[in-house]
Amino acid sequence: MNATKNKGKVYLVGAGPGRVDLITVRGFELLRVADCVIYDKLANAGLLRYARPDAELIAAPKRVGDESFTQKQINNLLIEKATQGKTIVRLKGGDPYIFGRGTEEAGVLAEAGIDFEVVPGVTAALAASCYAGIAITDRALASEVIFVTGHEAEGKEQTGIDWALLAHFSGTIIFYMGMGNLGSITARLIENGMSPDTDASVVADATLTTQRTAKATLGTIADCCAKQQIGAPALIFIGPAAGGDSRLDWLSKMPLFGRTIVVTRDTAGNAEFAAKITAKMAVPVDLAVTKIEPLTDSNTFVKTLAKINAYDWVIFTSANGVEIFFAALAKLNKDARVFGPAKIAAIGSQTAERIACFGLKADFVPAEFTSKDLAKGLIDFTNLRGKKILLLRSQLATDDLTKRLGVAGAAVDDVPVYTNEKNLCDLKPLSELLATGDVDFITFASPFSATCFFEQVPVDFVKTSGAKVASIGPVTSEQLRELGVAVDIEADEHTIDGLLAAIEAFCK
Ligand code: SAH
Repeated sequence: MNATKNKGKVYLVGAGPGRVDLITVRGFELLRVADCVIYDKLANAGLLRYARPDAELIAAPKRVGDESFTQKQINNLLIEKATQGKTIVRLKGGDPYIFGRGTEEAGVLAEAGIDFEVVPGVTAALAASCYAGIAITDRALASEVIFVTGHEAEGKEQTGIDWALLAHFSGTIIFYMGMGNLGSITARLIENGMSPDTDASVVADATLTTQRTAKATLGTIADCCAKQQIGAPALIFIGPAAGGDSRLDWLSKMPLFGRTIVVTRDTAGNAEFAAKITAKMAVPVDLAVTKIEPLTDSNTFVKTLAKINAYDWVIFTSANGVEIFFAALAKLNKDARVFGPAKIAAIGSQTAERIACFGLKADFVPAEFTSKDLAKGLIDFTNLRGKKILLLRSQLATDDLTKRLGVAGAAVDDVPVYTNEKNLCDLKPLSELLATGDVDFITFASPFSATCFFEQVPVDFVKTSGAKVASIGPVTSEQLRELGVAVDIEADEHTIDGLLAAIEAFCK
């Protein structure tokens, strides 16, 4: 058999410039099936959650601390893994061939007789241009573009850079890896005859929620970046089009762009909320002050499950409840058929959506989101007299709903499927941000979260930080006020989306 037949295949994949979803579809699909992913520091680590759960993930940063890899080690690793017959995704920031040493990796693989494919990626310059409103070509201002490495500027005798050509170039020049040498890059261009008044900009962390832009001239950009503490990874744009056009700067006009928003639910809830915050280009800070404990091992729960089809209505009040209920069902080798003819009600569209994931359509979803609305809605919807109702919800829920349904003549069983508990957090990162006034909003999605948060963080600390407090609804706001906290924002729609919309409206 030909030896190469046993060898795996290496995909050199451009991960794109930073933001997770700027990878190509081809790259993404390969990432999802790879046996092994070897990734760069610049490739967004958030992409790794799309790898197979059993995939081997290897960080291969260069020039960073003890864990750092030399290029030779990376090359050898690629060969080693491919020789084991594996499918490898070599995930590289931006495009593999733009200052990415992808050529060396591909060259080594070719020499070793290992199959490879190269998947292009959006290179940082093109992404920064779109995200900062600096079009690098422009009919009136720039008909040419040059990408240059800024890494070899300082004192290198044999430079591959033609400084005289650059200094007389009429289009847009973009330096990669130039922040360490920004002063000498601009000085060399000026020495070689470029006007110090030429427009120059620097875009750092392009496409990320932390993106920052400095706009100045060739003569002043280095000072400007030093003052604003703008550093790598960043691109330097120089030329008549480098000043950008404020009309094209859509990102910094997003109301939540760059704002820091603290999320205080449980781990899974925080992840869901953080994704929505990131989509608005704001920066989430995760503080899981509560945790969810399933109660589905209890006797009451198991007994209830056995007779669930005897109820007229089963009511879920949160997506968590649905998730935990169906997980318990699956563990007992059962499925949605246990409901039999029982009808299902759900508080909130998210709860209904989660129910739909298990193949069931909620028979009743109130338009509003509180227990009071559910009770009123259900009473208007159907005659509850003599009906048997099962509530599957958190142990911490109030008895308001039970009482209202009881008054309408129903026999209600309230069976807790989970409880929320306080979760002790590492408060150091948040404390530092609060101390420097770098938190814009702290969000509370339940009264319990508010309690758990302020049991760990002093109220005064939040007050003096200038952070605004945002609450999901009146019940949570009331609890906050009881804790001595002023509520700056309260959502009209009592969902996570409603809470984010309220913060966005506050910023407009
Ligand atoms: N192959 C990559 C470039 C690798 S060289 C690409 O195609 O984008 C590393 C340099 O890329 C950094 O020093 C910086 O100049 C630039 N860079 C990468 N990601 C960036 C980002 N998100 N924002 C600004 N510059 C970035």
